[in-house]
Amino acid sequence: MASLSDLPIRDDLRGLTPYGAPQKHVRYALNVNENTHPIPEAVARDIVTSLAHAVLTANRYPDREFTALRESLADYLGHGLTREHVWAANGSNEIIQQLLQAFGGPGRRVLGFPPTYSMHPIITAGVGSTWVTAERDADFEIGPETAVRAIERHTPDLVFLCAPNNPTGTGLSLETIAAAYDATDGIVFVDEAYAEFMPKDRPTALTLLPGRERLVVSRTMSKAFAFAGVRVGYLAADPVIADALRLVRLPYHLSALTQAAAVAALAHTPEMLAMVDDIIGQRDRIIAELPELGYRPWASEANFVLFDGVDDPQATFNALLERDILIRDVGISNALRVTAGTAAETEFFLRSLAELGPGGA
Ligand code: PMP
Repeated sequence: MASLSDLPIRDDLRGLTPYGAPQKHVRYALNVNENTHPIPEAVARDIVTSLAHAVLTANRYPDREFTALRESLADYLGHGLTREHVWAANGSNEIIQQLLQAFGGPGRRVLGFPPTYSMHPIITAGVGSTWVTAERDADFEIGPETAVRAIERHTPDLVFLCAPNNPTGTGLSLETIAAAYDATDGIVFVDEAYAEFMPKDRPTALTLLPGRERLVVSRTMSKAFAFAGVRVGYLAADPVIADALRLVRLPYHLSALTQAAAVAALAHTPEMLAMVDDIIGQRDRIIAELPELGYRPWASEANFVLFDGVDDPQATFNALLERDILIRDVGISNALRVTAGTAAETEFFLRSLAELGPGGA
């Protein structure tokens, strides 16, 4: 069998590892921060009706500007945003890729603050840019001075901030985002994939958009919206950002079926988001109960919890897998990450962890 080294692949891709969160068929899949609640059946029926209409005209290319979808997304976001401020793609991963194609590329630098979303460096490498990193403050926070110092040291073309941060759950202040913006002439990208799980008193970076044409805030329908399988991510920014992305996106990148499904789902926003408070409740329960089992959870503003105090993360991961629970080893020593799902999933996870004994042995 041939190996990658037999191929004339780009030199800068040699030796890299692809994204590889395990996809296993387990009863309790708590590893990729999905909304584990199914889409309500009444909403599903409406989506199917919309899809049926879209199929009847699928002989034609879809609306290249996905106008109706951008309109729905702008309505959902509020903050005075219109469809001109919004752009969408097949998951926020593709949003990031388009952004990097337009503003990164070979010879350019992207600054990130690990531990952070594992795809940020992977997509950066995919477009031939260099991923440069800076350390966080205590408890994975990033204060304004830390961000500014890192920008002054690395002079990046793009600054990637993840708020709340995956895999730690850490929130990010508007002061840090604004300070980062003022410290660079490059793009400041705020990945708000988990925004709907933030505390009500945590303002979104959307509030910083007016007057900041280099600020980009991305969201996704994959998490709170229970739509991970459909692949819809989007951004809000000054309309000129969409002009830049039009130069690199593939024509008709959002299929007519994706557009129809997303517009139909957005028409049912209250039902689609009905479980968010419940998930927040489960997250807070995990954070409250883990210390009783001898673990140290970090504060989380997202739908997952990172916890420390695991003697051997791989062994605990495997022991939970034997009980049909899949969680995530994110490569942080003595730590594991678990997604907050339904009450029953939380109960089974916590009970199983308790059975493993202190340290998860
Ligand atoms: N950003 C963050 C921080 C994420 O955790 C994820 C998914 N794990 C994504 C973006 C990508 O999500 P999607 O492509 O499904 O929108």
